[in-house]
Amino acid sequence: MEVDYFKIISDSFTGYWNYLLNELSHPGWHNYFYMLLVLSLLIWSIEIIFPWRKKQKIFRKDFWLDAFYMLFNFFLFSLVAFNALSNVAVTAFDQLLALFGISNMVAININKTALWVQFLIIFVVADIIQWAVHVMLHRVKWMWQFHKVHHSVVEMGFAAHLRFHWMETIIYKSILYFPLTMIGFGIDDFFVLHAFTVLIGHLNHANLNISYGPLKYIFNNPAMHIWHHAKQFPKSHPYGMNFGISLSIWDYIFKTVHIPHSGRDIALGFDDVDKYPEGFVGQVIEPFKKTNG
Ligand SMILES: [Zn+2]
Ligand SMILES: [Zn+2]
Repeated sequence: MEVDYFKIISDSFTGYWNYLLNELSHPGWHNYFYMLLVLSLLIWSIEIIFPWRKKQKIFRKDFWLDAFYMLFNFFLFSLVAFNALSNVAVTAFDQLLALFGISNMVAININKTALWVQFLIIFVVADIIQWAVHVMLHRVKWMWQFHKVHHSVVEMGFAAHLRFHWMETIIYKSILYFPLTMIGFGIDDFFVLHAFTVLIGHLNHANLNISYGPLKYIFNNPAMHIWHHAKQFPKSHPYGMNFGISLSIWDYIFKTVHIPHSGRDIALGFDDVDKYPEGFVGQVIEPFKKTNG
């Protein structure tokens, strides 16, 4: 079968553009744009009313930079490149499989189980994979150069959640693609699940002293994640600690947890973070300079 990759690319762009316009003009319960907006305003309000670091400004350092990252990573990057790239990659991959006579990658179809079971499986499977990818981002040198963008936050607040290099989207999503396809799902199939992970991620970075009591052994939380952003990693965890995305349980199981005391006022970032580019463009270019030499 002939495949027109150019058409796939152009359809991806126009398709995504129409989708985006439609999202903006149709507020509703299954709308990603308004979900992000409402959750952000909610967590921001709680930060303002019950701040952990009381002296931190409401419009903290890099607030607007992070607000832009949030829009870029959630929407614009898909519009600019990812949507087209992933459609091309998926088609090419399907063509490759077809050469071997495979038309379907689904190994175990969980579609037929109860909805809450599907939720749980996809959430836990995606989360442990992302935990492992996050560990890799810290241990593999060139990956760390990209991940440093997320660690360049020196004053923590909810919006820091989505400050990351677009390369991370590519790394995470391409690794997640295979196992999720094998159980018959795409990562964006569940709106509610997506909203839940945005909520947890926003909270993890919020200026809030919350750890959810005994649930801290299951869910990642602000008191734990702030240590992930510590400027100095301890000798016992030279590549970092508390790698959890939504769940903290993997860090407890694999002994990568480290919360020596309240992290309220610890220094954040990495060595020489004060010399790191401060703007979006500078930060996006920086890892490419580093990996070349
Ligand atoms: Zn990290
Ligand atoms: Zn973080």
